[in-house]
Amino acid sequence: MPQTLKIDNARYVITVDGGRRIIQGGSILIEGSRISRVGKAAEMAGVGADRVIDARHMVVTPGFFNGHMHISYAHCVRGIFPDDQGSPLKHVFALQNAMTEEEEYSTTLIGLLELIRGGNVCFLDPGSTKFPDACLQAYQDAGIRVVTGECVIDRDSPLALPRYPTDEAIKRIAAYIKKWDGKLEGRMRAWAMPFSAETCTAELISAAKRIADETGTGLTLHHNSGGAARKEYQARHGTTPTEYLEKLGALGPNVVLAHALGIDDAEIDCIARTGTAVAMCPSTAAKGGRGVGEHGRMPELLAKGVRVALGCDSPNNSNYLDMVRAMNMAAVQYKDARQDMRQIPAEQALEMATRHGAAALGGGDELGAIEVGKKADLILFDTQRPEWQALFNPVNNLVYNADGRSIHTVLIDGRVVVDAYRQSFVDEARLFARVQEIGEGLQARTGITFPRSRWPIV
Ligand SMILES: [Zn+2]
Repeated sequence: MPQTLKIDNARYVITVDGGRRIIQGGSILIEGSRISRVGKAAEMAGVGADRVIDARHMVVTPGFFNGHMHISYAHCVRGIFPDDQGSPLKHVFALQNAMTEEEEYSTTLIGLLELIRGGNVCFLDPGSTKFPDACLQAYQDAGIRVVTGECVIDRDSPLALPRYPTDEAIKRIAAYIKKWDGKLEGRMRAWAMPFSAETCTAELISAAKRIADETGTGLTLHHNSGGAARKEYQARHGTTPTEYLEKLGALGPNVVLAHALGIDDAEIDCIARTGTAVAMCPSTAAKGGRGVGEHGRMPELLAKGVRVALGCDSPNNSNYLDMVRAMNMAAVQYKDARQDMRQIPAEQALEMATRHGAAALGGGDELGAIEVGKKADLILFDTQRPEWQALFNPVNNLVYNADGRSIHTVLIDGRVVVDAYRQSFVDEARLFARVQEIGEGLQARTGITFPRSRWPIV
């Protein structure tokens, strides 16, 4: 008999199911890794379980899906880039390349710790991990779902990305998927992850998509075009960046385009027509000064039925990994940019973090909603906190008042991975000290250092 767990009499269960029901006084029964019953607490009063969690003060939501989340190096040098130095991108890959196996393992652990305590049950890492063998144990211990891959390029790039001859890059993509896809009882998926169409040849991009199709996996790449990039695409290929990908056969339901700022109406049609998904990183766009007002098209993508996931990008871009704050940013930035309060309602922000995110990452049938038969990936928010008062509309309170700090309990695959604010897979104090040390060493080794602060630290 599988273990049973009952979430009993939650103040609200925001199911994000087909009918978008919010059950006041709701209970959820979990058998093994799956949800077997959802309903009113009174109707399920006679249902016992091996463990019962009293949820009378909790708001329960599906777990969050982070659609673009580089972990690896960045946690150990988080916050070193001063605002007045502009984009840190040229340093990012140099720092990442200098990581040792143990250093990447430790910084991955802290990334996973922050992700699961923030209710992220799954994340897509766009190829930033250099040592997957070392990090596998961290994924296993954290209990998280991960979509991983090897980042490759085969063209010149000012960024210190891993460049290979085209045929070798293709072989590496295929070998990575063969080795890693389906590990951790299916919680680990491996995808093709060429960095971008600007850093990869047409041959490599087409081959990566072919491998994704043949292996039943997916493909993600950075797709972030400003005015200069658009002009270059017109000159080189006679198309927009998105239509260029379509011509290569590189769009489709198993493809996630990351960022997707600066796309026009025809490109939105192209994304919708091909069933392609998009992962947008609202806080990265805002912090990086990417011009959401001019370049952000989230409302139009959603209106065309595109599966739009949210991402937190990186601890040195966003810099937070808190999906509640990302939802808030998505919900407020388009209201401001369009001077229209009706843009991206709170419910739509929550759909992106849960249901749409799960669908974008290839798990729409099993994940992303609280429904019978689905995997039990859940977050319990503690409403006995000032920011949750007064509570009439739980979705508004979640997106506009709360942040990830009220996350009390998290379940992934039916397993409690955060239990009353605590996790048991890592010694936090020791890890924090080690990550600080790694950051000091990495800056000394690479010479990539900045004035510690614009204000004197005395
Ligand atoms: Zn990225």
